[in-house]
Amino acid sequence: MKHRIVVLGAGYAGAFAAGNLARRLSPADTEITVVNAEPDFVERMRLHQLAIGQDLAFRKLADVFAGTGVRLRLARVAGIDPERRTVAVTGEDGDGELAYDTLLYALGSSVAHHGVPGVAEYAFDVTGRSSALRLRERLAGLGKGGTVLVVGEGLTGIETATEFAEFRPDLSVALAARGELGAWLSPKARRHLRQAFDRLGITVHEHTGIEAVEPTRAMAADGTSIPAEVTVWSAGFAVHPIAAASGLEVAGTGQIVVDRTMRSVSHPDVYAAGDCAYAIGENGRPLPMSCASAGYTNMQATAAIIARLTGSEVPTTGLKYHGNHISLGRRDAIFQMVDGDVRSKSWYLGGRTATWLKAGILKGAGWSIVHPTFGMPKRKRRLATAPDRGGVRAAA
Ligand SMILES: Cc1cc2nc3c(=O)[nH]c(=O)nc-3n(C[C@H](O)[C@H](O)[C@H](O)COP(=O)(O)OP(=O)(O)OC[C@H]3O[C@@H](n4cnc5c(N)ncnc54)[C@H](O)[C@@H]3O)c2cc1C
Repeated sequence: MKHRIVVLGAGYAGAFAAGNLARRLSPADTEITVVNAEPDFVERMRLHQLAIGQDLAFRKLADVFAGTGVRLRLARVAGIDPERRTVAVTGEDGDGELAYDTLLYALGSSVAHHGVPGVAEYAFDVTGRSSALRLRERLAGLGKGGTVLVVGEGLTGIETATEFAEFRPDLSVALAARGELGAWLSPKARRHLRQAFDRLGITVHEHTGIEAVEPTRAMAADGTSIPAEVTVWSAGFAVHPIAAASGLEVAGTGQIVVDRTMRSVSHPDVYAAGDCAYAIGENGRPLPMSCASAGYTNMQATAAIIARLTGSEVPTTGLKYHGNHISLGRRDAIFQMVDGDVRSKSWYLGGRTATWLKAGILKGAGWSIVHPTFGMPKRKRRLATAPDRGGVRAAA
């Protein structure tokens, strides 16, 4: 019987990992299935562009995996039973169950509401394609001078506010920040950011925690009312509750607690990568939810799975966060390097070069999904337990 590897989620982490595993393990003794709710590979890093009305091309997952041997199951993951090693799925063809020998959990994240009243009912977000499309429709119906409030001064909030203001200068765009805009950037990068906000005419409400969202306004903690025909909630990501509900050991964030090889600390048949993994980086801190972390963690997870199945030593891949690339619309950007303690270095890159770099990163991330083994050995490896290899047990 073949070893069944099931990958949950085909985002940056899952899609890359599935392609990588399929190209490096022999189909003679492994069977790889990917479960994803959407038929396309969704580049989440571009969803604010989609929301404001730009047209993006989505690649079909069926094309991404064509010829690789990966089986694609378009369905929603409803639950996992790690004791029986099964995944419950629900799709167009009804409910079903998939059995696995090794599971790679990469279901990503969605918007974090933080329990703020009115967010679930009235706010929009850009964390998933369906929510970005809902926002796109709402914004398309907003006339000249329409008020849009982006809540959150993190990377997604900054990218969203600047993209919206540049692409739709007819709108009145504002951003609510709990602290100071770009407080975590180096002084020069912060100045650059503030100049970009001024140039794009974005109003910034600093020290303004939003405590309630209503249909046409948002209420700050001090009682200030900010007009907002559209509120875009960008106050962080939250992981799906599936992992916690299934009995896997999770952190307070709901992310799966993994060891250095991305293996679940409670269930050795389960690995996690991307936003849903609680992985400690080389600086001793949890890796941030980001595309870069999705890259490091899925590379480490696939390397560990391949090594353990083929009976070789598990290699370690780097888990180091280098910096933030922040787009400020299509014509400006900031690249802020950070040190080992995730503090901004004084050096930063801004303007055209940073814009070009960010465009390259976005393109590269999409390209790598289709070429997951670029630069790696082409040889497909047999399992240590394959019967024609003497059925040696895979290394633990
Ligand atoms: C607007 C925006 C801009 C961003 N910009 C940057 C940036 O510049 N740099 C950066 O590093 N990061 C950025 N990020 C964050 C980055 O996109 C995420 O950290 C990254 O997508 C995580 O990858 P992942 O594979 O873990 O999850 P995802 O890319 O979210 O993939 C998860 C996959 O699982 C599927 N899925 C989810 N639930 C289910 C289910 N129940 N059943 C079946 N399938 C399911 C989804 O459809 C998806 O295909 C940005 C995010 C957003 C929203």
